Amino acid sequence: MAAITLRRLGKVYPGGVRALDGLDLSIADGEFFALLGPSGCGKTTLLRTIAGLEVATEGAVQIGDRDVTNLQPGRRDVAMVFQDYALFPHMTVEENIGYPLRIKKLPRSARRDKAAETAAELGLTGLLDRRPGQLSGGQQQRVALARAMACHPQVFLLDEPLSNLDARLRLEARTFLKRLQRELGVTCVFVTHDQAEALALADRIAVMEGGRIRQVGTPVEVFRRPANTFVAGFIGSTPMNLLDAEVAGDAVVVAGTRLPLPEPARAVVADGDRVVYGVRPEYLDLHTAPLDDALSGRVVVVENLGSSSLVSLDLPGGDGVAGVGLQVVVPEGREPELGSTGWVVPRAGRSLLYRD
Ligand code: ADP
Ligand code: MG
Repeated sequence: MAAITLRRLGKVYPGGVRALDGLDLSIADGEFFALLGPSGCGKTTLLRTIAGLEVATEGAVQIGDRDVTNLQPGRRDVAMVFQDYALFPHMTVEENIGYPLRIKKLPRSARRDKAAETAAELGLTGLLDRRPGQLSGGQQQRVALARAMACHPQVFLLDEPLSNLDARLRLEARTFLKRLQRELGVTCVFVTHDQAEALALADRIAVMEGGRIRQVGTPVEVFRRPANTFVAGFIGSTPMNLLDAEVAGDAVVVAGTRLPLPEPARAVVADGDRVVYGVRPEYLDLHTAPLDDALSGRVVVVENLGSSSLVSLDLPGGDGVAGVGLQVVVPEGREPELGSTGWVVPRAGRSLLYRD
């Protein structure tokens, strides 16, 4: 087990694509850490650079107390699980799991024992003689995990390990992965583009965009206090409402309505500043009777989310300006009529101001 430290890490691919742009990051020993971001933001490149499968063009990678920046992958004491599992199709499950040990020149009997032991831990006993083509997606994923575990690496690197599983299996595998990581106590870095997966699994999350880290924090921190509008828009099962607004004394004017100025913002904004007012659909209350100091608009869409509904309202724009949309989550049974007027009040302490 080991901590991972990245210093000013950069990667420019031949041809000039800058995939990583001066990343600084510390991942603690034993931490379950998620790299989250949209496709193409550099997640796989970062994981491969930690593994040594890509060479950093700038900066340094430290694992434990060793600077591994210039070490071969095999000497870094990490194991990587690839998105497509990358199992050897012509080898049995036992041979696949034992493969890293063969590379380490362990004798055949020791490899067999270790493969059987690891297979048992992952519920794969009974499948040892099968080939990958004879396994379900979930079983293949466990074989890939078993192969990574077999040589007891200090660090696990997982690239979208759940993305090839169907929705239900994915939830099961998620719980399984979390339990496994707790039991092994191993440092784990996993890549995902799925914010719900990152929030559910990780101790901490780095949200990436364009080769940079936009925020690092616990799931609660990045959900409650996104550092910028990019993170605000990316985290959450429904995107945060981000509305143009203007500071006016101790209030903020949103779509013509004065709302209380969000608390931490008081020191950093001045009267007349143009800002963005952010509030999650879950943190708004919808009323069907007129109310002072509420955002009011017409109900244009009601979407069923299961035990709640997502209501979209059109807020009026000022002087001939097009209206803006606002989304509110309402509990089951509280859905308003389409075309009716709704009055929306943000919950105290749940809204944020941004400058970008
Ligand atoms: P992610 O995993 O977040 O989707 P990647 O790390 O795969 O992102 O890619 C980051 C950027 O680097 C993208 O612009 C991608 O096109 C580019 N890229 C990835 N691999 C290579 C490569 N081998 N050669 C050149 N460019 C690459
Ligand atoms: Mg990727």
